[in-house]
Amino acid sequence: MRIDLHAHSNASDGTSTPAELVALAADAGLDVVALTDHDTTAGWAEAIRARPAGLTLVPGAELSCRWFAPEPAIGLHLLAYLIDPAEPALATEMARVRGARETRAERMVDLLRADGLDVTWDEVLESAAGGTVGRPHLAQALVRRGLVPNVSEAFADRWLGERYRVPKADMDVFAALRLVLGAGGVPVFAHPRASRRGPIVPDELIVEMAGQGLFGLEADHEDHSPAERAHVRALAADLGLVVTGSSDFHGTNKTVGLGAHTTDPEVFERIVAAAEGSRPVSG
Ligand code: AMP
Ligand code: ZN
Ligand code: FE
Ligand code: FE
Repeated sequence: MRIDLHAHSNASDGTSTPAELVALAADAGLDVVALTDHDTTAGWAEAIRARPAGLTLVPGAELSCRWFAPEPAIGLHLLAYLIDPAEPALATEMARVRGARETRAERMVDLLRADGLDVTWDEVLESAAGGTVGRPHLAQALVRRGLVPNVSEAFADRWLGERYRVPKADMDVFAALRLVLGAGGVPVFAHPRASRRGPIVPDELIVEMAGQGLFGLEADHEDHSPAERAHVRALAADLGLVVTGSSDFHGTNKTVGLGAHTTDPEVFERIVAAAEGSRPVSG
């Protein structure tokens, strides 16, 4: 069984449509793939319709969160598996974050334009294709202008990593945990030690999250070194949390391929058993 529990479509900042994503997952030899777009479930219906026989689809989302206690607050991502997409409190909060992401991206376009860089809001909206807007869409505009060679380079400090970055209006991490659990979902902390992306939270916060219903930690991820993976595994064992591995596939916006990291079938079974919001789609 090859199980990849974290992938993005163009319902957020991946480059494949949900239909293309499930086809790619089957081609990559996966048995199970989770669709986890940023702050949205908009890709679910298309992925479910297009699912090739034999592939199990796990509907989910990746929530943009922040731990507000430290100054400055620290951003983090929470994977929410098998939520009820119609549960109003979570759906409303995701909609708020998506709206705030648009305002934020528009401000980033303004900052770029103020420096004489001719990026337009229209082209950013066009590459977002109606999905959740994120920095990768701005990065694509910089690539088109020949200002950077690829999307990854656009995340350097002199570009979208720092110079033109505007913070998102993220969910409070404890509120997000309550919302996911309230929507019958299973919360897993995505890439908790990905320090190359920015500041990471201390283990003490993860202990607190575990006390508030966190179910697992993503250990095997591109952005974790072997030592970081080992640390995450040890912490999960201490706290009684499951560990997952996943690609965090973003199509051509990143170099990682589907199935680059995978999750143990027993862990997948435990996630499914804990979920009450929706079911994996299989058959
Ligand atoms: P945002 O959520 O709008 O702040 O944008 C962050 C998104 O950009 C995340 O989904 C990351 O997966 C993606 N990202 C972060 N760093 C990089 C990078 N170096 N190359 C490509 N994508 C990245
Ligand atoms: Zn992303
Ligand atoms: Fe993430
Ligand atoms: Fe992701």
